[in-house]
Amino acid sequence: MKELDLIVPNPTGLHARPAKVFVKTAKQFKADIRVKHGSKKVNAKSVISVLTLGVEMGGTISIVADGPDEDEALAVLKDAVETGLGDDLSVGHAPAPKPEKAKTNGQVDAAPAPASAPPPPVAKQTPALSGDKIVRAIPAAAGIAIGPLHQFKHAEITIEETAADPETEKSRLEKAIDAARTELEGVLEQVKKQLSGSESEIFEAHLEILDDPELKEAAVDNINNGQSAGHGWQAAVESVASTMAALKDETLAARAVDFRDVGNRVLRALSGGGQAGPELPDHSVILIANDLTPSDTVALNPGQVLGFCTAIGGANGHTAILARAMGIPAMVGAGEDIFNLENGVMAILNGDTGTLTISPDEEALAKAKGIQEEHEARNAAELAAAKEPAITKDDHRVEVVANIGDVKEARKAMDFGAEGVGLLRTEFLFLERDKAPTEDEQFEVYRDILLAQEGQPVIARTLDVGGDKPLAYLPVDEEENPFLGQRGIRLCLARPELLRTQLRALLRASSYGRLRIMFPMITTFEDWTAAKRMVAEIQNELRMGPVELGIMIEVPAAALLAPAFAREVDFFSIGTNDLTQYTLAMDRTNPALSEQADGLNPAVLSLIDRTVKASHSAGKWTGVCGELAANPIAVPILVGLGVDELSCSVPAIPAVKAQVRTLARSTAEHLAAQALACATATEVRRTVESLL
Ligand code: PEP
Ligand code: MG
Repeated sequence: MKELDLIVPNPTGLHARPAKVFVKTAKQFKADIRVKHGSKKVNAKSVISVLTLGVEMGGTISIVADGPDEDEALAVLKDAVETGLGDDLSVGHAPAPKPEKAKTNGQVDAAPAPASAPPPPVAKQTPALSGDKIVRAIPAAAGIAIGPLHQFKHAEITIEETAADPETEKSRLEKAIDAARTELEGVLEQVKKQLSGSESEIFEAHLEILDDPELKEAAVDNINNGQSAGHGWQAAVESVASTMAALKDETLAARAVDFRDVGNRVLRALSGGGQAGPELPDHSVILIANDLTPSDTVALNPGQVLGFCTAIGGANGHTAILARAMGIPAMVGAGEDIFNLENGVMAILNGDTGTLTISPDEEALAKAKGIQEEHEARNAAELAAAKEPAITKDDHRVEVVANIGDVKEARKAMDFGAEGVGLLRTEFLFLERDKAPTEDEQFEVYRDILLAQEGQPVIARTLDVGGDKPLAYLPVDEEENPFLGQRGIRLCLARPELLRTQLRALLRASSYGRLRIMFPMITTFEDWTAAKRMVAEIQNELRMGPVELGIMIEVPAAALLAPAFAREVDFFSIGTNDLTQYTLAMDRTNPALSEQADGLNPAVLSLIDRTVKASHSAGKWTGVCGELAANPIAVPILVGLGVDELSCSVPAIPAVKAQVRTLARSTAEHLAAQALACATATEVRRTVESLL
């Protein structure tokens, strides 16, 4: 028997996704593996058990392995935990600010917006509405809903407590789990089709819960002790759900609803199946519910459900995540008082501020309608004009392109007016797998993305992983400072076969569209020379023509050497997320630094300025593909600094284009000059706000 202590580095602790990866990794080994945390010790091959440990960021776990492959198991698990268990530790997911718990009067004062929700653009913030009776809760999904309230309640499922024949009950449970699995697979397919983000993972996790060995074992034990299938299953689920709900960590506690959701799905199947959600009236409503499950939420018709307010739940719960993805205004954690609200009563729900105004007076209604119409009109106008170019008032064009990770996003980007892809994060193809994708697999994806872009330029960034992003099949030696270690191009140059395969796939696909290739984390000139040489060798092998090659400016050294690089590269793309981290020496994943690690810091702006000037002097161009490209305060500065291309997430494209159209380049240049002369990011912000 061997034991090993490890620290969990994930910003949100050992939550659903890393727990799933951890368990999947543990399951590869024959050894019996247990995880200890505090006074608890659980089976490492059960997602549920691992989740109930409630390990938070920086928490220590001990892994105990006992069996023929115990050494290997510990080594692989160590590597997996240290590299983030599938979480992208580099994208700066600070843990969401903890929302205040509901107060005893059932009301909650305004809580901070969830970290996982996109920050609302400055110009679009909605003022709080006044009115007679206001329920306050945690804002969960932006937007305003005006309509009658409707209490949303599931019909009670009656379950017999005991049953005579355990064997019959076990087989009933088996069948109900199978039926629930088929249903869930259907939901998963529907979610994948309708929502473009990672929301489908919620239902993948539900499938895991359904098949968890410990949960089933507990239910079977209950049945063997004389309980009915339904009672035995519910007791097993409830025991896990209440343990989860009691966890200190808000994100993990919010997962209790997922267990109950899966539990109820099986209970419904046991009681003869049927409709997942309760009937709704035939008109539009604002729903009032205790806590909508993810299954309830995904089944809502946004045309009919104008918004919802729940008694419990947090901003990080899956219900809130789904509401944001579906565009349904929502607030959560309002407390039990909301059950006293009557069906049919008119209300205004403001998902930006987390307020529900009951029976609003004429004035409040008119104000809410005005804001709602303004929101809708602006969004509609921005979307309608999304395919028009982004040209400033004084005729200067800025290209607005998309940051994407897969073919689906490449297609969606077209509808949102992307003029190409400014950053294809190819690492998404390599993550969450047991081995690297083959050249042919990669070729097909790159080809499909190029085809989806119908001749528009696509900038593929070569594999950007390293000590901070996990690739289970690519163990990296332990590093004291992974962000300063084998990352991005450094790692690829240290494992040239990986880069060669990717470059072959990219170059083969290049005949299907307008491919550009760029290298991440270039620091020294030698990095660039080695990467460029490899491309030339492969072009020779494949007898392919040249493609445009660029580098990311993410490290101050690259910005400082920009004049030298500009002589050789075709373009620069500034990764402001990393450039900020490295310029300010502030780890982008450290929540304690998230406010100060601000890309608007004049030091970062000054490096952007230097890069743009160097590229233009050499007749080349510069794009920005970090988060700053869609920041409404940063956009005028970037345009003023002469940035030629802004690359941002797909949904942000219409608004960025619209903002560029409101600017005059001359004003933006003046603004940029003033921003460069500021001493702090706060001053930069104030300057922009006062001049726009
Ligand atoms: C960046 O660093 O700004 C960037 C776009 O790359 P990533 O966020 O993927 O590191
Ligand atoms: Mg980066």
